[in-house]
Amino acid sequence: MSKRTFTLIKGYAYKCPQCLNDTKFIGRSEQCAEDLCEVWIECVCGFDPTANNTGLRMESVMGQLSKEAIWESVENCWNNPIATWACKT
Ligand SMILES: [Zn+2]
Repeated sequence: MSKRTFTLIKGYAYKCPQCLNDTKFIGRSEQCAEDLCEVWIECVCGFDPTANNTGLRMESVMGQLSKEAIWESVENCWNNPIATWACKT
């Protein structure tokens, strides 16, 4: 399992529903099968929008937390799930 803390420009990511942070996140990667890793991001406070729905996480063979992987995770594993919740309420 690997981790990488990163900082985003303000306005790119939705605010964390738990602590209202929108710039500091942690990219995470965890092996879920022999040749497959899950990549996702969570807030520095530990909030993870994919915690109850790991199907939203990105699949990656190497599980590298490259810049590209992090950008995609912000979109798919953070902004999209939070936007979906915002629509429901
Ligand atoms: Zn937070």
